[in-house]
Amino acid sequence: MRLANATLPDGSKHDIEVSGGRIAALLPASGKPAAGDALDLAGAMVLPPLVDGHIHLDKTLLGLPWVPNQATGNRVADRIEAERKVRAARSVPESETGANLVRQVAASGTLHMRSHVDIDNQLGLRNLHEILKVRERFRDLVTIQIVAFPQSGILRSPGTADLLDAAIAEGADLLGGLDPVGIDGDLDGHLDPIFAIAQRRGVGVDIHLHDGGEGGIAQIRAIADRAKASGLQGKVVVSHAFALGSVPTDLAERTADLLAETGVAIMSHGPGGAAIPPLKLLREHGVVVFGGSDNIRDAWSPFGNGDMLERAMMIGYRANFRHDEELALAFDMVTTSAAKVLGIASHGITAGGPADFVVVEAGSLAEAVAVRPPRKLVIKAGQIVAQNGVLTAEATSFGR
Ligand SMILES: [Zn+2]
Repeated sequence: MRLANATLPDGSKHDIEVSGGRIAALLPASGKPAAGDALDLAGAMVLPPLVDGHIHLDKTLLGLPWVPNQATGNRVADRIEAERKVRAARSVPESETGANLVRQVAASGTLHMRSHVDIDNQLGLRNLHEILKVRERFRDLVTIQIVAFPQSGILRSPGTADLLDAAIAEGADLLGGLDPVGIDGDLDGHLDPIFAIAQRRGVGVDIHLHDGGEGGIAQIRAIADRAKASGLQGKVVVSHAFALGSVPTDLAERTADLLAETGVAIMSHGPGGAAIPPLKLLREHGVVVFGGSDNIRDAWSPFGNGDMLERAMMIGYRANFRHDEELALAFDMVTTSAAKVLGIASHGITAGGPADFVVVEAGSLAEAVAVRPPRKLVIKAGQIVAQNGVLTAEATSFGR
């Protein structure tokens, strides 16, 4: 297979030679109409696959009739309660709704994702088992990393620490966590089991932290200190980290320096109702920042569609990005940086790398982020898996 007359994100024009599912060579574009079995892209832009660094495949209600949000208050704890009601009324297994979401995100060009999966003493490992089925079913289409996520807290839900440990034994890839002070009211009581299990099992950690202000910063510092002490530098993430966006700049800078030193990355989805971390400041201080969808059509949020170009636009909108280099940062958050955090080997369009591409009509990378054009093609290992936002019949049939 050859993709003729492709424009790469840096603006360079190439013919891309594909063999055995990998990029055999990046040749100078001939500029002539493609002959033989080559696919002539006529100057369309070829992007690397999009990466969703934070999704909840087990929570989505995608494909089901509309479910109104049932939270009676605006706190995280209110939303946890509301989700219990939605969960109790659910009649379709998470493996089906999760599969609906995987098909939708793959059609929009996401080929790698990190999904948190709820674990507590009522659910046990049920949601993990459901999403493990989804991972197996779509393993030739997308990579799915799974975080064992204690959505109900660890101390508030006795027995959860043992379940988290069992989750890793059964196939989850990382330990999650949730507002050690805001939900469990005990910083060490929450973080001790997470880091003990992570260290013993040799896995990374990805903690949801909504707690804001200086209290939130203290928790971020505690997580960073533990990342270093446990030898987990480069394997720890704080998701959301609203606190970084709600404190004076000098405190955010000092915290950024600690995050960089301890190799703790920050995930942001471009929150609608909370302070967004200062992405450029963090990056300037050497912190890896990356993006994710977070909630999509579930008990937490009615919004979201899993389109990571649209997510890059929303992150840029919330961060007040305007210039092309700022839009490039938003794009990096949903591609290169997210791939780095997920440990995706050889992500990007380079000779020898996987022949995974997303083709769009855009005159520049910045335009692709601002306009988020339809995906003309999604190509996985040299095979077209989606066209104009619709999965091919072959890709749709995965696991059936
Ligand atoms: Zn989340």
